[in-house]
Amino acid sequence: MIPEFARICKRGAGDILSDNCEPLSDTPQLTNSAGWVTITEHTPSQQSRRRKLEDTIRMGHGAGGRMMADLIQEVFLRHLDNPLLRQLADSTVLALAGNGRIAISTDSFVVRPLFFPGGDIGSLAVHGTVNDLAMRGARPLWLTAAFILEEGLPVEDLRRVVRSMAEAARRAGVAVVAGDTKVVERGHGDGVYINTTGVGVVPDGVDVGPQRIRPGDVLLISGTVGDHGIAVLSEREGLGFETELVSDSAPLNGLVEALLTAAPHTHCLRDPTRGGVAAALNELAVAAGVGVELDEAAVPVRPAVAAACEMLGFDPLTVANEGKLLAFVPPEEAEVALEALRAHPLGQNAARIGQATAEHPGLVLARTGIGGRRVVDMPLGELLPRIC
Ligand code: MG
Repeated sequence: MIPEFARICKRGAGDILSDNCEPLSDTPQLTNSAGWVTITEHTPSQQSRRRKLEDTIRMGHGAGGRMMADLIQEVFLRHLDNPLLRQLADSTVLALAGNGRIAISTDSFVVRPLFFPGGDIGSLAVHGTVNDLAMRGARPLWLTAAFILEEGLPVEDLRRVVRSMAEAARRAGVAVVAGDTKVVERGHGDGVYINTTGVGVVPDGVDVGPQRIRPGDVLLISGTVGDHGIAVLSEREGLGFETELVSDSAPLNGLVEALLTAAPHTHCLRDPTRGGVAAALNELAVAAGVGVELDEAAVPVRPAVAAACEMLGFDPLTVANEGKLLAFVPPEEAEVALEALRAHPLGQNAARIGQATAEHPGLVLARTGIGGRRVVDMPLGELLPRIC
């Protein structure tokens, strides 16, 4: 969902944004006092209308980047559109007839391999859905779990997955209250696919979502980026540095509770999963109609992950996380929010990494280490398939 001109501005290494870039002729734009080109009008539907969807599904359509966003707009939202689905939030908050609100979210897990350093498809299926509920400030309570098993799967592998799922559910304080099992013929699956749907309760007074982000909000991240994507890739491809690389897969509901207690006016939370911090911030910038300024040097990255990314040619900002959150917090609560994150075992490496701004709405711009600025683009999609 990146404005068209941002790609045209790309000039290879460094991608420094300059006012010499040529915007598309039909893209409304203006140049502000700082010399940055900004887009004045770019709703997600306008952007997707300009791109033609491919004729067949490709791996990138499931990777959390621009290709997936196009697919959602052109197929799913086109036919299933309604005001609740249209929000495209981590989970959807529903008002009940009496009083009170619930949040609901669903997610399918196709990670390959099934077992990786720091987790497996079972724990991931719990954490992924629990975290999507927590990102709306909901307290996750119940999960459903649907299994698609491939003929020939060792029952011991399934037991291992389900034991791990049970342990993750206990840790997150949720119960699996409904399930389903289907089996497909040998060669028609990859051992196990899991879908989980989660329901949580949104406490009174909690209102967290993309539309609440305001210019001036401080952007926090709860820890290091890229751990999950690199750990899974390293295990799958046998890259040999797996001892140092461990997935961050974890339930974030406890961390969110601590954060919202300390900083109750937190505006927005997002777990930067597929497509990483880059995809999450681009989605939020468009949804909220704000710009995001990122202090790239402040984003925590483990040295082993940074080294692996360098070797593989990945930008750590585009690599998936499964136990991290981004928070937009009003400036007056930023310090207590950061302290609350750092006081929690899952937020020890939390950092302040940027802010929302009224400038360049819909765009994420990073200050680079050498004092330049670059557009942090929405990843296209094929970078890291099957990582969740
Ligand atoms: Mg999410």
